[in-house]
Amino acid sequence: MKIRSVEIFMLDGGRPGWRPVVCRVNTDEGLSGYGEASLGFDNGAAGAVGMLREIAPMVIGRDPMAHEALWDHMFSDSFWGQGGGVAVLSAVSAIDTALWDIKGKALSLPLCRLLGGPCRPRLRAYASQLQFGWGTEGMVFDRGFRREDLAEHAARAVGEGFDAVKINFITYDETGNRLGFLRGPIPLRIQRMVEARIAAVREAVGADVDILLENHGRTDAVSAAQLARIAAPYGIAFMEEPNTPMLLQTAEMIHRECAIPIAGGERMYGRWNFLNFFQKNALQVAQPDIGIAGGITEVKKICDMAHAFDVTVQAHCCGSPIIIAAALHLEAAIPNFAIHEHHVTNRSEANISLGKYDYQPVDGFCAVPELPGLGQELSEKGERTAHVHVTVDRPC
Ligand code: MG
Repeated sequence: MKIRSVEIFMLDGGRPGWRPVVCRVNTDEGLSGYGEASLGFDNGAAGAVGMLREIAPMVIGRDPMAHEALWDHMFSDSFWGQGGGVAVLSAVSAIDTALWDIKGKALSLPLCRLLGGPCRPRLRAYASQLQFGWGTEGMVFDRGFRREDLAEHAARAVGEGFDAVKINFITYDETGNRLGFLRGPIPLRIQRMVEARIAAVREAVGADVDILLENHGRTDAVSAAQLARIAAPYGIAFMEEPNTPMLLQTAEMIHRECAIPIAGGERMYGRWNFLNFFQKNALQVAQPDIGIAGGITEVKKICDMAHAFDVTVQAHCCGSPIIIAAALHLEAAIPNFAIHEHHVTNRSEANISLGKYDYQPVDGFCAVPELPGLGQELSEKGERTAHVHVTVDRPC
């Protein structure tokens, strides 16, 4: 079997900042596989499409079953690959994931079974990013600053069966304007505002629900440590991205200062970056994105390495139904699974309709897709409405 072409899609996710980038790798035997470069939100999508166009010729004419050799070829022979940046690694990630999809279809096995088989029949999930609401319309940008609204979103998620919720309590100020980056000591006024929000959510969800604190890298070492001290009495399961991602020296300091476990990794690439953090005990929950960190091949290695340091893993999951399916398979197959991220966008009709199948959680748990490969494909609508659809069919 040989790779004949790579199609690249920039999908229409229903709003300007949501343009998932997906590739479809086609073979000369009629099998196709899907993968995703997870730069589809905010302002990375065009870069992912451009890099996929550059990397795709490297695999044309090659054996799609040889995923290790092709990963190493894309990484080592693209020159920029060894820099480990997000553009190259997201393109490698998309193509690598598509190779695993092809392998699963060729062998009639779901991806989870190729990775070692399920460690669990279903995956505990958390409701993610409730500062953007918890409706079925996707992210809403004006409902996450009043504490009673945050409490209501959290209570709604718990009512659906989730026993864990993730919220960024510092996205907005008291009037709904973006708070920006919190550098250095946090003003008392903002400390009180944040504490009132956390207290309102704790009261709304009861004593037994895990609250996950999302910082989006918008605190520094000083403000993150302060925030952790404010939040800790409310029972926080982990604090995510408390500092600028990949800054190891401050991550170490934050971990020393905070009683709360630290999560992160959605903006980290490749096994070598993760290893640096594991060796310093700077991460307790690793969150590699399969569409950024290097695809299934690389993220499985990161998961296994994490296990050696007693670090659990939750795949960062913020994209189209393609990357969601990939995350479910990988998380099912690893012993050191933490929890699955169910992003508010994942429940929006605009996003769901990009895929052929829908894997929504039930009572706070996700099932693992049972179809061969990823068990997910682009829908006819997803393909038809794509902003960009290009085909690469010539080797370099
Ligand atoms: Mg995050």
